[in-house]
Amino acid sequence: MPVPPPDHPPLARRQPWPLSAARPVATPLQASVVYAARDPDALDDHYEGRAPGYSYAREGHPNADVLAAMIDTMEGAEGGFVTGSGMAAVSAVMLGALRAGDHVLGGDQLYGRSLRMLSQDLPRLGIAASLADPTDIGAVAAAIRPETRMILVEVVSNPTLRLADMDGIARLARERGILLVVDNTFTTPRGYRPFDHGADIVVHSVTKLLAGHADATLGYVAVRDADLRAEVRAAAVTWGLTPSPFDCWLAERGLYSFDLRYDRATETAARLADLLAGTPGVLRVNYPTRADHPDRGRAAALLGGRGGNMLGFEVAGGRAAANALTRAMPRVAFAPTLGDIATTLSHPASSSHRGLTDAARAAIGISEGYFRVSVGVEPFEVLAAEFCTGIAAARAATP
Ligand SMILES: *Cc1c(COP(=O)(O)O)cnc(C)c1O
Repeated sequence: MPVPPPDHPPLARRQPWPLSAARPVATPLQASVVYAARDPDALDDHYEGRAPGYSYAREGHPNADVLAAMIDTMEGAEGGFVTGSGMAAVSAVMLGALRAGDHVLGGDQLYGRSLRMLSQDLPRLGIAASLADPTDIGAVAAAIRPETRMILVEVVSNPTLRLADMDGIARLARERGILLVVDNTFTTPRGYRPFDHGADIVVHSVTKLLAGHADATLGYVAVRDADLRAEVRAAAVTWGLTPSPFDCWLAERGLYSFDLRYDRATETAARLADLLAGTPGVLRVNYPTRADHPDRGRAAALLGGRGGNMLGFEVAGGRAAANALTRAMPRVAFAPTLGDIATTLSHPASSSHRGLTDAARAAIGISEGYFRVSVGVEPFEVLAAEFCTGIAAARAATP
């Protein structure tokens, strides 16, 4: 029997975790990629569902499950799972629920990458897609084909903040046997719970409001039907769309303050919208609960009369004014994201919608002077001063 040398280092990665009779109050971060089983019988128990646990992190890990269970509770969902990004969540749904020959109908103002997936990527896989205006139920009904298998909508459109006819679309989907997928990123379960209103699948970019600190990239998927859920989940594992433990751990930490952040940001956004609407140099403001918003009735019915943390506004003066505005307010990050604790400002004409023609942008109300604001948790007075400075600079730069 060979004897190991006395100075041999401990076997790699076999350190026992120090036990404690008192439990940690913060969730541990479990980074292990692989889990060592006791014996082949134990593996049988794991794979056949008789014993809980994990085998390989791409298939699942504790930090993802803790986070998913929290979002399940918020959405009234069962068996939801976390993905490596919001787009991974959308991808898992497409790859798990569709086959060649199917048709997907999308809202015409979906998130930019979702639009690209529908227009360019799904067709390569033999899946047809087309778009319709989800605020107009007649347009949605007219776009349905015999082979339409799925409708993908966002409740509030980005960046123009129009509200989809969710009740009409849900009724139509149910009557025609079409899966209704709701990307609930903008609205969050605090604004709208799609499963309470007839959705079959809910997806999120957890990156945004749920995680809330612009430091983790994650998504979430929940599927109502258990068989379809297994297919979508298997697609996520096979195509490698599953998340990192560290990002899940960060997002869980963020989620504990989600309701506080959301309520604060929503209250501030409503006040900021009213302030901007009365500021010289502002041509118009888009905020769902304002009296001048075209969908205010739906905002009252769908969102419980709360407008959320996003708003849009337009200044005169074109690009020169837009440049002056962003330069004059450096404390508000000019950055194309949303849902961070800090307020961020984006300019769709030069970022998310730069690929559109001027005419196509004009048709949906996006000019060179149009900005989208994701309101954070700063005091209202701080933001008010910053925006007034920016708008005054835009006016001064207007010819
Ligand atoms: C950001 C976003 C996505 C994509 O999420 P990622 O986490 O960036 O991949 C999808 N839908 C909406 C509405 C978004 O805002």
